Amino acid sequence: MIHKDVSIIGAGLVGSLLSIYLARRGYAVSVFERRPDMRKEKIAAGRSINLALSDRGWRGLDNVGLKDEVTKIAIPMYGRMVHGTDGKQNLQPYGKTDQAIYSVSRSALNKLLLNVAEQQPNIRINFNNRADRIDLDRREIIFNVQTFFIENNTNFSASTSSQKVQSFDLLFGADGAYSALRHSMQFTDRFNYSQSYIEHGYKELTIPAGINEHHLLYKNALHIWPRKNFMLIALPNLDGSFTCTLFFQFDGSLSFSTLKTEADIQHFFEEYFPDCIPLMPAYKEDFLNNPVASLVTVKCFPWTSEDKASLIGDAAHAMVPFFGQGMNCGFEDCTVLDDLISRHGENWQLILSEFESLRKPNADAIAELALNNFIEMRDLVADPHFLKKKKIEKLLTEKYPQEFISPYSMVSFSHIPYAEALRKGKAIKELLEKLANEEHIETAIERPEISEWMKSFANS
Ligand code: FAD
Repeated sequence: MIHKDVSIIGAGLVGSLLSIYLARRGYAVSVFERRPDMRKEKIAAGRSINLALSDRGWRGLDNVGLKDEVTKIAIPMYGRMVHGTDGKQNLQPYGKTDQAIYSVSRSALNKLLLNVAEQQPNIRINFNNRADRIDLDRREIIFNVQTFFIENNTNFSASTSSQKVQSFDLLFGADGAYSALRHSMQFTDRFNYSQSYIEHGYKELTIPAGINEHHLLYKNALHIWPRKNFMLIALPNLDGSFTCTLFFQFDGSLSFSTLKTEADIQHFFEEYFPDCIPLMPAYKEDFLNNPVASLVTVKCFPWTSEDKASLIGDAAHAMVPFFGQGMNCGFEDCTVLDDLISRHGENWQLILSEFESLRKPNADAIAELALNNFIEMRDLVADPHFLKKKKIEKLLTEKYPQEFISPYSMVSFSHIPYAEALRKGKAIKELLEKLANEEHIETAIERPEISEWMKSFANS
């Protein structure tokens, strides 16, 4: 047993998985989570209800023996099912026949990770512990403890707050996009930080299950209703329902701000999502009652402080969800950190500095890819020129299986660093544009210059 203690702020997806990795290395791990235990209290898991898990996330889970358990709660989605305004559906495979991304419930996955973490004798999870700030010089986490008094008779409630101080040896901030550790690091010299919101927010809606938990849409696809500047998506759940997310502008002539009454919402659905109306009996109530949440990209650097602290997951790199990679990237952070522990033992100064220099360019790249993918999802998937390029991509994958890999597959079905996927994706984009102008594509891809291109692409 190593006698160094590790503290983690946040028992979300990344914090819980990280605790399991570190416990397996022999560390005594204390996790501090601001919310109550989600396994005991009926609380929303926060953020989206379900998530797409792909190869990077699977590797993060597999390394600690959790692949089989998670497989039981995951639904494969082999492609995107694109819904036109005319009600027609068109399945676009994500990759090869057996390649899929997987829909998992955020709360089921988080609960599974908490259960596994709690079974480890060297992990202690402390719920209802909200870190207020971190004193890096003194290696202390300062918690604000609130005590509530409720007098039923008079309906009077009051609270007092006091401070609790916890010292740490080594600290990870896995506390999400609004991280307390990152906030404290912002007061240190030469700390760079930016956050930017997009003009779109999101609202969750539901397609309930049919009879006997039957899925009312094709179960093994991620459904998209692309409508140029906005879109609706739906991911399947195990109980036969689909969780739908409407990504839509906050403001403007057609936006969340202009859909105020049931009649407004009905007109909007009749015009843009008529095929959803029979599937969503409660769409008007859900629309009026469910909140609109915003979408932020957070970038910062450095992520670490000497040998004592590091940001990880969304705390280091929150991104918009359009590539379905935020959690996957956070799980990959855990894999990379674990590899560095294998290499450098307990030299945490070296582990943390290599961790941030390896991960930062990749986190920036996937943040960029995620923003770009919004345009692809909401608009291009219904565009004939885009579909032609997708067809060429498929032909190239079949003709050059050793050399060629599509940009989507690089991100979702490989472990190629995101920065490399971004760079190679730009080169592929240029090639596809050129080939899309050819009259006979099948002949064009046979040309020697294309096979030369493939060779240099594979070695680049
Ligand atoms: P979080 O999930 O934010 O967890 C942080 C934890 O820290 C929480 O439990 C929180 O309560 C706790 N905490 C926060 N502050 C404090 C504090 N001061 N003290 C103590 N505890 C604290 N990713 C994918 O890979 N695939 C997808 O399909 C996907 N879809 C998404 C859809 C939407 C609409 C959104 C918004 C995101 C999506 N993501 C997806 C991204 C994914 O949700 C995040 O990347 C992932 O949740 C990050 O995990 P995390 O543990 O780093 O942070």
